[in-house]
Amino acid sequence: MTNDRSQIEEIREKIDIVNLVGKYVEIRPAGKNFVGLCPFHTEKTPSFHISPDTQRYKCFGCGQSGDIFNFIQEIENLDFPETLEKLAKEAGVELKKIKKNPHIEKLELLNRKATEYYFRSLKKNDNIVAFKYLTEERKYTEDSIKNFALGYAPGNGELTTFLKKSGSFSEQDLLSSGLFSRKGLALREKFFKRVMFPIRNSRGKFIGFSGRVLPGNDFGPKYMNTPETPIFHKKENLFGLYESRQAIRKQDLAIVCEGQTDVISAFQNGISNIVSPLGTALTTEQLEKLSRFTKNVLFFFDSDEAGQKAMVRAFKMASELNLHPFATSPSPYKDLDEMINKDLKELKLRIKKKRDAFSFLLFAFIENKDLANYEDFNKTQKFINDLLSSVVDQTAFSFYKKKAEKIVGVLDKDITRKKLQKTPPIKDSSQCASHEKQIPKNESSYLQLLLLLDEIAIPKDHDTAIFTAREILEILRYIEQNPKKSRQEIFKQTKKSLVEDLIFASSKIIDLDQESIKRDLEDIYLKIQKLFIEKKKKRLGVKIAIAEEKGDLEKSKLLLAEYQDLVNQ
Ligand SMILES: [Zn+2]
Repeated sequence: MTNDRSQIEEIREKIDIVNLVGKYVEIRPAGKNFVGLCPFHTEKTPSFHISPDTQRYKCFGCGQSGDIFNFIQEIENLDFPETLEKLAKEAGVELKKIKKNPHIEKLELLNRKATEYYFRSLKKNDNIVAFKYLTEERKYTEDSIKNFALGYAPGNGELTTFLKKSGSFSEQDLLSSGLFSRKGLALREKFFKRVMFPIRNSRGKFIGFSGRVLPGNDFGPKYMNTPETPIFHKKENLFGLYESRQAIRKQDLAIVCEGQTDVISAFQNGISNIVSPLGTALTTEQLEKLSRFTKNVLFFFDSDEAGQKAMVRAFKMASELNLHPFATSPSPYKDLDEMINKDLKELKLRIKKKRDAFSFLLFAFIENKDLANYEDFNKTQKFINDLLSSVVDQTAFSFYKKKAEKIVGVLDKDITRKKLQKTPPIKDSSQCASHEKQIPKNESSYLQLLLLLDEIAIPKDHDTAIFTAREILEILRYIEQNPKKSRQEIFKQTKKSLVEDLIFASSKIIDLDQESIKRDLEDIYLKIQKLFIEKKKKRLGVKIAIAEEKGDLEKSKLLLAEYQDLVNQ
């Protein structure tokens, strides 16, 4: 891994986006750009544009855009460090290892050492109860215990001695690991007489633990996690993500279940694309993390009411993140673990036939309802409304709506989907839809043509003062002060998404003959100028009328002269 910006720039310089995208998508030249069918959504006519000038891509169908790093991250489903590694290899750039924060490294090492200690404790004769709990009650194999590095915390002070003996940890390190608390002058182990489930982050580093009490021991909560530490954030991590990431990518599906014990049982039975939150409700941050590996998430929650409520929440969070939520339940069994033991075949079938979460939830909701009854019908409408209001994606929204209509008949008229907060997809690439409201078409066309020139400079007799759109004016001023800069440079320096949009929109301009571009530029300039003069004339007319009304002859005379000048221009 590296965070060296210059290395990122070096890779960027060595890899051409057109070549890179061309390996995944069939592309053809269009004007100064290239176009092809978008790899990120299904379409029949190409709306995926690649600009060699800005080294960026943009889809006018689904709104996806970015540079080489974003493209590889999206299409290969990689996280940023992995993307960097892949592209560095391709560019022949050797990545420098970064120096990590020593405190973080120490905490990671401490957690690894603690994992080793707990793992070894499990095998000690004194702790046979814990071992039996895992192998007999939970039916975990020795392989599973090893794979997930399960262990046991006797809590007899040995861990403190073990860590102190291993050398490199200060008392402060021990305290900030969250595994200890201070009691008077001494340190006390927080986990005792608990079976330990180590938690790894997505890079495989041990960052914390979840400890379960042994059966018959009622001391403290059933499950207890490491508290928040500099490396352990319960909200952001998932149990099993490191172990299952390859399978998730390969199967393009992540199963989210309720607890870590389910994850281990599932793994042991050949279901290895599965994760769970860390003993609390699923969070948006966890789903976001998961979305780097797949967009398809199958929620597998318990059959009870709490499980179904959690499913509604999960559906909404996933829909807001534009993921594809699916759902199933272990019914008639109470949880995944029970179903694994009693009907593994049916379980695998349910995963394979995964239903969309919307239909799943709707059917579950109306199961005991009579839609001919007004109250039940009303409740169902409200339920549908509530679910659909979290759906961002238009296609998914229509799909769910149609399904609901089939089941309940007519839907409320005011049913609406969630409005996208990010850049909305732009349908028509011939105009800058995202900016068109504020910017007169003539002015954006002028800038667009200007950007098509081999030597980008504003003609000497063109006066930028006549432009009314501030955004355009700022870019024109930059070009005025920095003539003959490249498109790439202008894009970089002005940082205007408008420049990017105009460059992409110009894919449609096939005739790149410089003379005709210059002619068109002149024509448009004259149009803008005419409009400018008309407006000015109108304003002067009003001023003259006011001056005359007031009897200010001197002023009216001056204004009239100005007006004449305009007409003669
Ligand atoms: Zn697209």
